[in-house]
Amino acid sequence: MIETDILIIGAGPCGLFTVFEAGLLKLRCHLIDALPQAGGQCTEIYPKKPIYDIPAYPEILAGDLVENLMKQAEPFKPGFTLGERAETIEKTDDDKFIVTTNRGTQHIAPVIAIAGGLGCFEPRKPPVANLADYEDHGVEYIIKDPNFYKGKNVVISGGGDSALDWTIFLAEGVANHVTLIHRRNSFRGHLDSVQKVMDMAASGKIRLVTDAEVVDITGDGKVEGIVVDHEKEGKISIACDHWVPLFGLSPKLGPISDWGLSITKNAIDVDTFDYSTNVPGIYAIGDINNYPGKLKLILCGFHEATLMVQSAFKRIYPDKNYVLKYTTVNGVEGF
Ligand SMILES: Cc1cc2nc3c(=O)[nH]c(=O)nc-3n(C[C@H](O)[C@H](O)[C@H](O)COP(=O)(O)OP(=O)(O)OC[C@H]3O[C@@H](n4cnc5c(N)ncnc54)[C@H](O)[C@@H]3O)c2cc1C
Repeated sequence: MIETDILIIGAGPCGLFTVFEAGLLKLRCHLIDALPQAGGQCTEIYPKKPIYDIPAYPEILAGDLVENLMKQAEPFKPGFTLGERAETIEKTDDDKFIVTTNRGTQHIAPVIAIAGGLGCFEPRKPPVANLADYEDHGVEYIIKDPNFYKGKNVVISGGGDSALDWTIFLAEGVANHVTLIHRRNSFRGHLDSVQKVMDMAASGKIRLVTDAEVVDITGDGKVEGIVVDHEKEGKISIACDHWVPLFGLSPKLGPISDWGLSITKNAIDVDTFDYSTNVPGIYAIGDINNYPGKLKLILCGFHEATLMVQSAFKRIYPDKNYVLKYTTVNGVEGF
């Protein structure tokens, strides 16, 4: 059982900034995220896009913002449960909450801060009839650890940055062989990645099959090959150990919608006094909350996190009086 003061669900920018603000109040945080890395939408959707409305940063790449938030949180040694979805919540007799993930990891805390953004990103799945039979038996939708593919024959499907970047990465000495399959002959990703993939295909480092879609998976209990339907050549069988369809992720509020919280249009209703929900001890900040005038902006989430931790402190230490001190006076004293 992982024990902490504030259990943050969602390691996007608002969840990460909560660690810093809570740390100033000597409160420890642990974060759960369904994605294999921290950063939420910034990392998953637009890491290379510049953001222009973060105070005091005229321009910053979303990926760099996340890196800075991680650095800012570092002194407070946050814990992370990554690649797992917060699934269930139960209340204990001493007014704490136990949150269990889809993989069974349990966490206990007196305060829950839901910073779940647009919800869990669920993979977009290709319409292949026997797909479910091979999930986690050779079919994966997210590459969590590239070393998992060491020495393997991997087929990747997709035409975006994720498919291109992983093809390049796995082909550079990780996998035994990589095939990239795309249903068109033009790609949506960065031009330099597209060029690199083309060069790798031309030099025989990878196999590139365009104008083709995977229509069947073969194998006895695990993936041993796939069948593609090629526009001109018809059905082609390709032997492989893994098929990784990278068709993007779409967000869903997911299990949090069953936690007894008041929800309006997929967002959790909060009191703007402290961003508390209708369940005492559970707060919601960032894109996932709802109140009159709500703006889904990172800077608004930072403000919400700052006020929320003050209320969390009072809940955890009802007898202590906290006096706000400037960081310029007190500095940042980590754990
Ligand atoms: C293309 C694009 C451009 C943008 N540009 C700007 C901009 O210029 N300026 C700006 O201010 N904002 C911008 N935004 C919006 C900004 O990214 C969001 O406001 C911000 O990411 C919200 O942060 P968050 O921490 O609330 O949630 P998110 O970043 O959405 O992170 C939430 C995290 O919670 C996780 N999660 C959800 N449910 C669970 C669960 N049950 N268990 C485990 N994990 C869970 C998700 O996996 C996710 O990682 C942009 C958004 C997009 C898509």
